[in-house]
Amino acid sequence: MSRGLLIAGGGIGGLAAALAADRAGWQVQVLEQAAAFSEVGAGVQLGPNATRVLQALGVLDTVNEAACAPQRLLARDARAGHEGRILGSLPLGADATSRYGAPYLTVHRADLHAGLRKAAVQAGVSLQAGRRLVSVREQVDDVQVQSDDGVAWGGDALVGADGLWSAVRPALVGDGSPRASDHVAYRALIPMDRVAPAWRAHEVIAWLGPRLHAVTYPVRAGALLNLVVVVEQAVEGPAGGWDLPGTGERLREAMGAVCTPLQALVEAAPSWGLWVLHDRTPVARAGEMARGRIALLGDAAHPMRPYLAQGAAMALEDAHALGRCLGAVSDRILDVEAALQRYALTRWQRVARVQRRARRNGEIFHATGPVRLARDWVIRAAGGARVMDLPWLYAH
Ligand SMILES: Cc1cc2nc3c(=O)[nH]c(=O)nc-3n(C[C@H](O)[C@H](O)[C@H](O)COP(=O)(O)OP(=O)(O)OC[C@H]3O[C@@H](n4cnc5c(N)ncnc54)[C@H](O)[C@@H]3O)c2cc1C
Repeated sequence: MSRGLLIAGGGIGGLAAALAADRAGWQVQVLEQAAAFSEVGAGVQLGPNATRVLQALGVLDTVNEAACAPQRLLARDARAGHEGRILGSLPLGADATSRYGAPYLTVHRADLHAGLRKAAVQAGVSLQAGRRLVSVREQVDDVQVQSDDGVAWGGDALVGADGLWSAVRPALVGDGSPRASDHVAYRALIPMDRVAPAWRAHEVIAWLGPRLHAVTYPVRAGALLNLVVVVEQAVEGPAGGWDLPGTGERLREAMGAVCTPLQALVEAAPSWGLWVLHDRTPVARAGEMARGRIALLGDAAHPMRPYLAQGAAMALEDAHALGRCLGAVSDRILDVEAALQRYALTRWQRVARVQRRARRNGEIFHATGPVRLARDWVIRAAGGARVMDLPWLYAH
């Protein structure tokens, strides 16, 4: 008899977990609060550790149709007067694929989400839109939850993949709301024909500091350039809100003077979305990711700053690890609680390391004074590859 899994949240993590659990022989129901299963936002980078999971889930080919495979990662100086000079460079493209056995891709979040959704529908996963989970009750033999329309749902286990403001998290961790930072991400998608030819190459560019950084890369098979600028700015916004409308004026005010190429890209952006960046302290023990019949995954478990471009990647890795552990239940090797415990034990130290590293990257990217000088010297002396390549991360 197959087991039943409830998943709260149909984002990238929730859908990947649904697919992994389905492949492990579980019957899956995904409850999503939004009226439709869709994605907002802009681009995401997917390192080889993320694309390897997509490969295992059988969705890499679909996602690849709308993705780009950047040929290199460049660190450039964003300061005014320095014209974006190159500080360091790391080959990606075929080089990354041969180093790690999986490609380094950039993709629009909606295209990644659509690929996962299509596979979940084909697999027969039950996708329930317009169902906001509002309560959780764990019992000896199952978990019962309720959605905001009063409907009750039951399963052998519950996975909270409901993001930063998770309604499942309080059942496991009593640490209140996520922590807002004074870092704000402005995101834009620029039609490539509005971008100067010099900046249309399939590359990921990190434009560094001071007190800001920007990242550019192509998405939608090269039709759009994704631009995110992270600045230090106090922004009042509704608690729990993200993807607020942003304005170019507010961005320019926070950014100050930057190099001409970055300035031109900012001017080319048709509109801006704004994210106040939040995180939590790194996961400190396995019990923060699973207990009893309940587990957390993705941003619900370990929200992080986006400076390592690994939040969605960690959600995908979680989903893969969860699928393997749930498979052990189908094979009668583990019971449900032991399987979720194993999932948490396999994941918590890795995600904590990524959370810490993401935070440190923010400090390095925004460095000023002697720290900036030391950073630039180290990147140049190492030729980029030695400091920008992260085998511990990508080879996972
Ligand atoms: C500026 C920026 C740039 C980024 N760049 C990258 C990158 O390059 N690479 C990368 O890997 N990551 C990146 N990330 C991080 C990445 O976007 C997130 O880590 C990732 O989307 C988390 O996925 P998730 O499925 O865990 O959560 P989410 O994407 O937040 O999905 C949660 C889902 O749960 C639903 N939900 C919420 N509450 C409930 C409820 N009570 N009941 C039912 N449904 C609910 C939501 O509607 C949503 O659909 C970036 C983030 C930011 C802010």
